[in-house]
Amino acid sequence: MKTIGLIGGMSWESTAEYYRILNERTRDRLGGLHSARCVIYSVDFAEIEQLQVQGRWEEAGAVLAEAALSLEAAGADLLLICTNTMHKVADMVGAAVSVPLLHLADATADAVRASGLRRVGLLGTAFTMEQDFYRGRLERSGLDVRVPDAGGRALVHRVIYEELCLGVVRDDSRAAYQEVIKDLVARGAEGVILGCTEIELLIGPQDSPVPIFPTARLHAEAAVTDALAGVVHCGDEGPKWAAAP
Ligand code: GLU
Repeated sequence: MKTIGLIGGMSWESTAEYYRILNERTRDRLGGLHSARCVIYSVDFAEIEQLQVQGRWEEAGAVLAEAALSLEAAGADLLLICTNTMHKVADMVGAAVSVPLLHLADATADAVRASGLRRVGLLGTAFTMEQDFYRGRLERSGLDVRVPDAGGRALVHRVIYEELCLGVVRDDSRAAYQEVIKDLVARGAEGVILGCTEIELLIGPQDSPVPIFPTARLHAEAAVTDALAGVVHCGDEGPKWAAAP
């Protein structure tokens, strides 16, 4: 089993979900008392959020690159940046280490394509919905991506930073998100990417008329698939490894 390195804390509300999903998925795959081998470097999100607001992405990237180096030194075999937004600096983080970085947009695009859908709505922070680093990457992988109108984007962004990242989950915000989703569907979206790792704390499949793609879950599951590649069987006696071909 490979060791998964998590660059987390953005916010810790969703990093806690990553930790839970990694462990549940590993237990599902291997059985018994198995759990994910992982290391978490959790940053102070207030510092990162200030750098985001001020457009100081290089400095934010340096903080995450430092975290990545620490995780590599701690034995991580692959890395996750546990936030869609901070994939704006994914190239900088990936270049700092020699272990692979599993890109969140790629894990998401793989899941959307596997579902057979192509035209999707994207919810996330304003950075994620409006800039090329994420939306463009999805489009280059063959998806047709639609984002909410300006009012919808402002609402989705505000709820992320003022509520979800603080652990506040409100029914009226869920209802407001449902309206935004309805509008995306009316404009042709066949599915909706929850492109912020906290949105799945608010919105589930029952809240959307079309399939949703929860990015923290998809990212964590892809990491487990990668970490367990080669483990072919497990019983209570522990994992057995595939013989090298
Ligand atoms: N976790 C969020 C995301 O997936 C937003 C917090 C952040 O700005 O990193 O984009």
